[in-house]
Amino acid sequence: MARLTFMGGIHTFDGKDLSKDQPLVTLLPKGDLVFPLSQHIGAPAKPLVEKGDSVLVGQIIAESDGMISSNIISSVSGTVKAIEKRLTSEGKMIESIVIVNDHEYTIIEGYGADCDYTKMSKDEIRNKVKEAGIVGLGGAGFPTHVKLTPKDEGKIDYVIVNGAECEPYLTSDYRLMLEYPHLVIGGLKIILSLFDKAKGVIAIEDNKPDVIAKFKDLVANETNIEVKALKTKYPQGGERQLVYAVTKRRLNSKKLPADLGCIVNNVGTVASIYMAVAKSTPLTHRIVTVSGDAVANPQNFYVPIGTNFEEIVEAAGGFKTQPKKLIFGGPMMGTSMFTFKLPVTKTTSSILGFIKDEAAVEESACIRCGRCNEHCPLNLMPIGLQMAGIHNEYEKFLKMDGMECCGCGCCSYVCPANRSLTQTILQTKQVVLSKQQEHHELHELHKNHAENK
Ligand code: SF4
Ligand code: SF4
Repeated sequence: MARLTFMGGIHTFDGKDLSKDQPLVTLLPKGDLVFPLSQHIGAPAKPLVEKGDSVLVGQIIAESDGMISSNIISSVSGTVKAIEKRLTSEGKMIESIVIVNDHEYTIIEGYGADCDYTKMSKDEIRNKVKEAGIVGLGGAGFPTHVKLTPKDEGKIDYVIVNGAECEPYLTSDYRLMLEYPHLVIGGLKIILSLFDKAKGVIAIEDNKPDVIAKFKDLVANETNIEVKALKTKYPQGGERQLVYAVTKRRLNSKKLPADLGCIVNNVGTVASIYMAVAKSTPLTHRIVTVSGDAVANPQNFYVPIGTNFEEIVEAAGGFKTQPKKLIFGGPMMGTSMFTFKLPVTKTTSSILGFIKDEAAVEESACIRCGRCNEHCPLNLMPIGLQMAGIHNEYEKFLKMDGMECCGCGCCSYVCPANRSLTQTILQTKQVVLSKQQEHHELHELHKNHAENK
């Protein structure tokens, strides 16, 4: 079987055996649910409810506020208890709507109704996706209706479904593809109906042969959909690596996949598009992996967004040993946190609990082994970028293409000196971005001043 791939990258211990064979479990939480107003890239949503209001499952409780923003939908029925700042798994305090669960899960009228998307216009489909509050569930959180509305619709020739799931330990996409493949295929057909020239590609890493076989069988009679096996290698699911593997087209930080004729969506996002458009079910639930060697019974749960992770960990039998390290969203690109009493958001794919903290090892001097360069999937020079960052040499950082770093973590993973390469490079990127923003604002100020003279 020919397998598609990219340059660089790493082979990690994948830890997927811990949870991959356990069927999905649906969990209905008992406690309050918390809905941060910012669970996506772009402007925070604007609340449509107030303290004391009653809400239903499927009700829009906060609306998209701007071009790049997204609706927030209640996944529970109950009463709004507060709108206040709450901590999220990204380590930020974010204004959130807190709802007291009435345990009835009463749905709003029309929720779950069948809809024939073939009778809908393209605008109606895009609007349904927007109303449903769908964002990239793979972790990016980019509003999906914006992605489905590229500048040049006629240029799109590929719709790629990202089924790589290359982050170690995560198996939520795997269980979704194995148990509900028709949702993914249905969602892909809906996206294809928006782009007249496009063909669909379902791209899956070859460590999931059962899923590849299942999809090949299910699309055998579809002339416009192909299933492609990807070589199992991290970060195969990164947008740039995936687009390159499938099309041999090269993305960079200044280009969107749509500029190269591609629309790329994670499998969970594609399934959500199907649910929103064909089943009138907005984004109220998601699948999360609970895993790691500290967890009693690693598995995947289908949960209402807003559920507290404490309840999910409890449903997985709790921790058999007090974890030294908690990670949300995958060990390579996720966030390390000190507590698990946090709400599930649209983009939280997992909670991982580990007995040891592998990162708690001292950094030492670079031995110039070159491994970080060799494994960088973007052909960057990580140690050079780290040194430029440490010495505040921002021009040098820019010349070395530091802004292209996608934060995949491969360089830090392979470094025998345990240098925190990725962390320093990402921090330097933030500093450069804010300096560029300041420079832009200053330039605008001078321009306005000159025009008003
Ligand atoms: S420099 Fe950036 S893109 Fe390259 S390996 Fe390190 S984190 Fe990944
Ligand atoms: S992998 Fe680590 S030790 Fe090797 S060159 Fe890169 S920074 Fe230096």
